[in-house]
Amino acid sequence: MRKLAILGSTGSIGTQALDVAARHADRFQVTALVAHSSSERLFEQVRAFRPQIAALTVEPAQIPDDIKNACQWMFGEDVLTRVVRACDADDVLVSVVGVVGLAAVMEALSCGKRVLLANKEPLVAGGELVTAAAKAAGHPLLPVDSEHSAIFQCLQGAQGNRPERLILTASGGPFRTWDKADIMNATKEQALRHPNWSMGRKITIDSASMMNKALEVIEARWLFDMPPERIDVLIHPQSVIHSMVEYADGAVIAQLGTPDMRLPILYAMSWPERLPTGGQRLDFARMRALTFEEPDPDRFPGLGLAYAALRAGGTMGAILNGANEVAVDAFLHDRIRFGQIAQLVEETMQAVPVCSHPTLEQVFESDRLARAKACELLKDGRYAL
Ligand code: NDP
Ligand code: MG
Repeated sequence: MRKLAILGSTGSIGTQALDVAARHADRFQVTALVAHSSSERLFEQVRAFRPQIAALTVEPAQIPDDIKNACQWMFGEDVLTRVVRACDADDVLVSVVGVVGLAAVMEALSCGKRVLLANKEPLVAGGELVTAAAKAAGHPLLPVDSEHSAIFQCLQGAQGNRPERLILTASGGPFRTWDKADIMNATKEQALRHPNWSMGRKITIDSASMMNKALEVIEARWLFDMPPERIDVLIHPQSVIHSMVEYADGAVIAQLGTPDMRLPILYAMSWPERLPTGGQRLDFARMRALTFEEPDPDRFPGLGLAYAALRAGGTMGAILNGANEVAVDAFLHDRIRFGQIAQLVEETMQAVPVCSHPTLEQVFESDRLARAKACELLKDGRYAL
């Protein structure tokens, strides 16, 4: 029986993690649940899973009588790290959205808990520190992001052979076939309609701009200690191959499956064992063609920014990520056009100074500076709708 804490339990990943935990209730005990403000949803989860701790960053007006004394309740801005410290858990699934998960990841590693990582922004912002902390803790970071889980699965048979190349697949998102002018003016509704995956709003916008793949290139660089020139991105619209690794002899190992996040979530939870997810299986005989394309840097400039950030090193990942969080929020609040997201990120990267080999505090400082700069740029007339 593994004890599991879920940070971001009310989100897309969090609810799917609870689904697989319920399916394997003899294997996983959910001991802590944390969300931001979705109190009604959290109350339901507390009724169903009876954790020892339940927490929200925003304190609700009241807690229903039937669950008031069912567990310990915690509230406040810093609840993520407080819960990580206080909970009785072997594993912490970090599935909050944004760099806000970084302190919790570091806290979990420092108190000897294993981290199952869906939340990619902490690795983008503080990859060097996070991977060093995981190494010191003696626990692997267990990836939940489907591409990184795929690579992690492909590496299980490596027998000490180091891969030469990682090939991250990308669906291409809803604008894969659109021309540049139409992408510039895409609406929120269009950007939020992902062809293959149902996910939270922020990652859905990132997928449409391909900034998600940019974040994933940086994530792969840190998770697998791979230089950026050996990380390729390949558009694969069917989302059947979730990613691949290539070895010295040219052999390519791929992981395939239906697009269902419960597989990578459960694999991280049960690794190295494999358990049923309840999801659909691939039917090869009925499968349409699997196709591949090169990403187009002109229509999707966000992807190139990842390689630029990795070349710059230091806190440039934190700057890219902070600016992107501001840009996505601005787009979702009708303050900028879709095509301006990458532009705002790039301009912020050019304006904010990079700090090399940063401490955690310096990563947070670069994140703050990037957000402030991006907000300042947003006031510029060029970014008006
Ligand atoms: P959602 O927006 O669906 O869920 C986010 C969750 O985090 C919610 O439970 C939310 O609570 C909670 N949350 C947000 N901010 C805070 C905070 N400050 N403190 C505590 N809890 C907070 O996101 P997703 O599940 O889609 O994504 C989560 C992470 O996983 C992201 O980093 C994403 O990039 C990554 N990921 C997601 C995939 C997917 O399929 N969805 C695939 C691969 C990676 P509330 O509901 O109260 O707002
Ligand atoms: Mg992914």
